[in-house]
Amino acid sequence: MYKNILDKHGDKDFWDFCPKYFKETKEDSKSTDNYIYKFLEDVFDINGVKTYILKNNNYMEKLEDVRKIYEEYMRINHKNIKYKFNKENVAWTDLGFEIKELHICKNCLNVSKKDCCDKYSSTNRTRRFYVLHLKIVQD
Ligand SMILES: [Zn+2]
Repeated sequence: MYKNILDKHGDKDFWDFCPKYFKETKEDSKSTDNYIYKFLEDVFDINGVKTYILKNNNYMEKLEDVRKIYEEYMRINHKNIKYKFNKENVAWTDLGFEIKELHICKNCLNVSKKDCCDKYSSTNRTRRFYVLHLKIVQD
């Protein structure tokens, strides 16, 4: 069924024409059909570099950087599948990650706090989404 849909609709986003009940089932199912789940648990290869996601409470990564790795992962490992990168997906919290919007210092680009650098100011900062407890490992 899946393949037929793809053939029929070509490169259109799968979820755009996916019936609602099907979409909900997809979102709830875990490792089988949830590609964010797979991404977070797989060890994969990007241009010869072994890559995987590590759960570690001392780390966090920019959501944007995680999304880039996810897109590479999908392009290389599941190139016929369209699965939206979504920060509301159940996989994040199920696997112990947390997505949070943090204040970032515009001067040093670290999380903005009193001693982040000598140009710290509560007006000199921007907001950015981070995935907490997550480290992208590439070796
Ligand atoms: Zn700073």
